Amino acid sequence: VHGSELSSIELAYELVKQSEQKTPAHNVIIIPSLFPDNAFAANDDSTSIGSTKNTGRYTSDITADPNRQMPSLGKAFDIRQPLDSMERVIELENTLLLQLVQTFRPNLIISLHATRSSAYSGVFADPRADHNSIALGFEEDSTLATSLAALIERNGGIADGNHLFAKPTAVYVNDPPIAPKGFLQQRNFKGSVLNNKRGEGVSLGSWASTAVCDSIDNRDAITILTVEFPGSKRVKDAKTILEKKNISVQLAAYTKAIIQLLRKPELFPIKKIDG
Ligand SMILES: [Zn+2]
Repeated sequence: VHGSELSSIELAYELVKQSEQKTPAHNVIIIPSLFPDNAFAANDDSTSIGSTKNTGRYTSDITADPNRQMPSLGKAFDIRQPLDSMERVIELENTLLLQLVQTFRPNLIISLHATRSSAYSGVFADPRADHNSIALGFEEDSTLATSLAALIERNGGIADGNHLFAKPTAVYVNDPPIAPKGFLQQRNFKGSVLNNKRGEGVSLGSWASTAVCDSIDNRDAITILTVEFPGSKRVKDAKTILEKKNISVQLAAYTKAIIQLLRKPELFPIKKIDG
C-alpha cells in the first residue's frame, strides 16, 4: 500500500514464491505492490529508506494517503463516480484494488504494511460491522490476528504491538475501542497529520470490515488483518551484516507464519455469504 514500506513488498514477493512451492488451502490473490511508482521513488531515494522522510509513502504532495481513499462506510465503490468518503478522486491503483475486492469478494484480506517502530509491529484486525456500523463481534477475528502474531513470534519474529506475553491485543495502537456486538463501532478516520486533511478518510481496514448495502453492491463484512512488519528496509537495504541478519530473520518469520495460516483452512473457516 505505502511505497515507502519496501520491506512489505519484499514480504509479498516472498509469499508469491513460497505459495507457488506449497499450495495454500485457499485461492489466494497477491498484489505485491499496489503503488509501484511510489515504491520506485522510495527505492531510488535509497539513503532515506526507513527514515521519517517517507519518500514514496504518498503519490504527491496533494494526493491523500493511499490508505485513506476508500468510499464511505457501508457504501460500494462506484466506477462511474470514483470518489472517496471525503469526495476526493480515488487514485487509479486504489480503484483497481476496490474493483478486485468487489469482484472476488474475499473471505480474508491481509494488508501488508511496515512500521518504523518495532513496538507497533505485528498483526491487527479491524472489527467487523454491518452496513450501519453495528458491531458483529470481534472475538473470531482478534483470535485470528493474535494467532498469526503468535506464529510470527514462534518463528523468531517480532510482533511487539500484539503484547502476547502481557495483555494480548489485536487492536492497533491508535484505533478506538472495540464495541460489544450489537453496539455502534467507532472508527479512526484520522491517520497521519498532513496538510489539507490528506491523512484523513476511510482506511481499507474500516471499509472492508464494514458490510456494504446499496444499489451497486451487497456484501458481508470482510475479515481484514493488517500486518505491520518491523522496519521498512529490505534485506538488501541493510547497512551492516548484523542488520542484514535481523531483517532476514523477520522476513523469514513473517513469510512462514502467513504461509502457515494460508495452509490451515481451520484457522479461518469460510463464512457463509448471506443473500
Ligand atoms: Zn503503511
